[in-house]
Amino acid sequence: MKKNICLLYGGKSAEHEVSLQTAKAVIQALDTSKFAIHPIFITKEGAWFKGPELTGPVESVEELQFVDNGQQIYPNALTENFSYDVVFPLLHGPNGEDGTVQGMLELLNIPYVGNGVLASSAGMDKVIMKNLFAQAGLEQVNYVWFIRSTWEAAPERAYDQVEKELGYPCFVKPANLGSSVGISKCDNREELDKAFIEAFKYDRKIIIEEGVTAREIEIGVLGNDFPECSVAGEIVPKKEFYDYQSKYLDGETALVIPAEVTAEQYTELRTMATNAFKVLDCSGLIRADFFVTNDGKTFINEVNTMPGFTPFSMFPLLWKHTGVDYPQLIERLVELALERYQEKQ
Ligand code: ATP
Ligand code: MG
Ligand code: MG
Ligand code: MG
Repeated sequence: MKKNICLLYGGKSAEHEVSLQTAKAVIQALDTSKFAIHPIFITKEGAWFKGPELTGPVESVEELQFVDNGQQIYPNALTENFSYDVVFPLLHGPNGEDGTVQGMLELLNIPYVGNGVLASSAGMDKVIMKNLFAQAGLEQVNYVWFIRSTWEAAPERAYDQVEKELGYPCFVKPANLGSSVGISKCDNREELDKAFIEAFKYDRKIIIEEGVTAREIEIGVLGNDFPECSVAGEIVPKKEFYDYQSKYLDGETALVIPAEVTAEQYTELRTMATNAFKVLDCSGLIRADFFVTNDGKTFINEVNTMPGFTPFSMFPLLWKHTGVDYPQLIERLVELALERYQEKQ
């Protein structure tokens, strides 16, 4: 019997476009002899539109935006009118990767792919994530954080604190986002001021990190209670850092898989990735991002609970090199979703 899989994509997030690309690729890879594909497009404003069942790949992401030719639904209709075996939230960033959609699916009692409420929300907020990593003894760069109102009350005091505790260069980031949206590298106070204004456009909370000069290495983790790690991959951006442009637009960034790391480094990366997975109580998947310095130090930068997921994204490529191709990866994630759901019943 075919499994009814519901794909949720788009979303009220600055990573809306990335999600559409992912949805198109997943639809192309799903084996339609095993899955009946039910698309639900979420607009940037957060409205839900159910499209017709898809029986094959689509040509463009425009075809997936069922605003005029779909049916507007409310999230609770997921169980009222349809029966899905599993939901795959192909959503990045706030309102999708952060536990909100996961909480709704828990209430509706529908199995879903990927991380649960706690891991998703803790993984989305870089401050909470880093605090938990610190508690688990995972090495990371120094950081400070502010909420908008604290900064507005005394911006110079915030900048003094950054200069005193971190110095330059530093990275300013919205606490809850991804794809490098709203992130700036700063070399002086003038840039710091601009960077705060920019990051606060996306979030009421921001994080500032000490900048490191390091190689960027990533590891994929897959599993529930017994997570497994992929080979390591390296990102070699042509620009100053791996920003939105280099992630999705200019095609200039090289992904080196497997990364050239020593056996000891790979062991350390795997241990740290698995610890990060466990400390956030993850399930399904994460991509763990690291900095490896020339003098051999490894820092965890972050994890992504719904990493970029097109066939050309790091996470699927890491698994491809580990022996799990893209369609197999999707099936494995569905199995893990059903396994976790059954364990909880
Ligand atoms: P994604 O979720 O798409 O991986 P993100 O928006 O969560 O990205 P980060 O991974 O935290 O953002 O940072 C984006 C990029 O900025 C990194 O890949 C790296 O190139 C650069 N970067 C971030 N923090 C630092 C730092 N502390 N030192 C040096 N470079 C950094
Ligand atoms: Mg991230
Ligand atoms: Mg991300
Ligand atoms: Mg990252």
